[in-house]
Amino acid sequence: MGPVSMQSRASRYRPPANDPSKEPMTPFVQATVPLDGTALAGVVAADESFSTETAPVYNPAHRTQVVGRVAVADASVVDAVVRIAESAGRGWGALTMGERAVWLRRAADAVGLGGEERARLLTLEQGKVLWESQVDVGGAAHLLRYYADLVETHEDEQLVEDARGTTITLRKPIGVTTIIVPWNYPIYLCFMGLAPALAAGNPVIVKPSELAPLALTDALSRVASALPPGVLSVVPGDGETGSALVRHPRVRKVVFTGGTQTGRSVLRDAAEHITSVSLELGGNDPAIVLESARIDDELIREIRRSVYTCAGQVCFNIKRIYVARPRYAEFMSRFRDAVDEIRVGDGQDPRSTIGPLNNARQFESVSRLHRTTVDAGATVDILGRAVDGTGWDDGYFLRPMIASNIAPDAPLVTQEQFGPIVPVLPFDDEDQAVAWANDSEFGLAASVWSADIPHALSVARTIDAGSVFVNSHRIGSTDQTMPFGGMKQSGLGRNHGMWAIDECSELQAIAHRPDTSVFPGPR
Ligand code: NAD
Repeated sequence: MGPVSMQSRASRYRPPANDPSKEPMTPFVQATVPLDGTALAGVVAADESFSTETAPVYNPAHRTQVVGRVAVADASVVDAVVRIAESAGRGWGALTMGERAVWLRRAADAVGLGGEERARLLTLEQGKVLWESQVDVGGAAHLLRYYADLVETHEDEQLVEDARGTTITLRKPIGVTTIIVPWNYPIYLCFMGLAPALAAGNPVIVKPSELAPLALTDALSRVASALPPGVLSVVPGDGETGSALVRHPRVRKVVFTGGTQTGRSVLRDAAEHITSVSLELGGNDPAIVLESARIDDELIREIRRSVYTCAGQVCFNIKRIYVARPRYAEFMSRFRDAVDEIRVGDGQDPRSTIGPLNNARQFESVSRLHRTTVDAGATVDILGRAVDGTGWDDGYFLRPMIASNIAPDAPLVTQEQFGPIVPVLPFDDEDQAVAWANDSEFGLAASVWSADIPHALSVARTIDAGSVFVNSHRIGSTDQTMPFGGMKQSGLGRNHGMWAIDECSELQAIAHRPDTSVFPGPR
């Protein structure tokens, strides 16, 4: 495809005549830096009917500190925004992938601005340490550019002419797409669905988590303003708002990331209108450290990162560790020392290596699992230290913990803890380790650790998980060129690459086959 200027390509976008974006109505977004608690993620428009209730967003490191406010959109707002999206989607869907790529790059440039302040805002509302917020925030522009490059020259139509006639196979946009986002990695996880959905030609409505809506809303407002009006909207709110979006008859695709229990509810709601659903759900990722592993600083650091990143609140963090019995004592000794170096504090403090948990529900659920584990007679080492000056009782802080002498069927082993506590169990042979790894309703990711790479790769094939990594297991082990998603109750569908485009488009066959006599039909 030859070079075409942004102006000439962009000007080819012709919103349909009845596009309501011509009216004074903006499905909108606003987030300001929150030092005085005035950040706002909401729906604001010239049309008064769009004003909604707002709820406070708190800082998990200082739980009474209000970082900003989030609007809670009701079903009437949802309905209005869906209709705007549907209308805007006609023009957007009529562009070629290459034309949309130009818009995506423009959006990437727009969202690239203000990243430092956005990362600071994200740490204030989410709790994680600043560098993690920076990684999360940086994902937005990166994913938009990746999909622009991917689809730029992509042929989305195939034509076959043979003796029977002509068959055209093409991909059409699926229609209004809703992306429902969790609070742990809100920006990356949103754009992981958003960039391919836009590239495929769909208008998109994002529903951020009510627990971390501000930085994401700020990023989306910049993207929305760089795209044709109505192509991207944000509907803030809670679970009820999310459910209203899923149940809306004109929403044709739901890309949901969150807990498995909520995923079940989304699937039930989607059944009403046979809406297509992609689900990225919970995980209980096993790591298997084989006897042939090189237990050195690098391995220990990698496993520590994978367990405790984001205070354990990453869907594909390591959630249980199985170590070959002959190496168990050596592993535990080095792992305890390494975990003891963790410093827990406010994510804004550069001395903190992990921040607090995000919310009261998560804090209580991890604390309960800890208590149950101790009550059952297992050993729990509470390690690391608080950063000096951290108002410990003021935030949802927990020190990193390692559980040992624990039964393979203990709740901490079989459930998704989503916090800074990990069980470590010895295994006697590899078959037992693989059987334990697979004995789970989850199947998001897993890892095998060994100096014998061919052997590790062959063990990896026996594990039922969407991604299996060798000698790593963390953000960075996978990227947008690898399919990502869960088996079993960890999800439906795959993200990244063209797989994500396929998930939010419909395959259509158009045929001109004049001679149908091969199937004579009823006489
Ligand atoms: P959650 O399920 O509580 O909420 C996720 C989103 O769904 C939020 O925006 C929430 O408002 C919305 N929601 C709640 N009820 C809804 C309903 N009935 N209908 C529609 N939307 C509804 O999850 P969370 O607590 O925000 O995130 C933590 C969970 O997410 C963990 O289980 C974690 O493993 C999982 N997760 C999975 C992935 C993945 O890629 N597989 C990534 C991140 C998090």
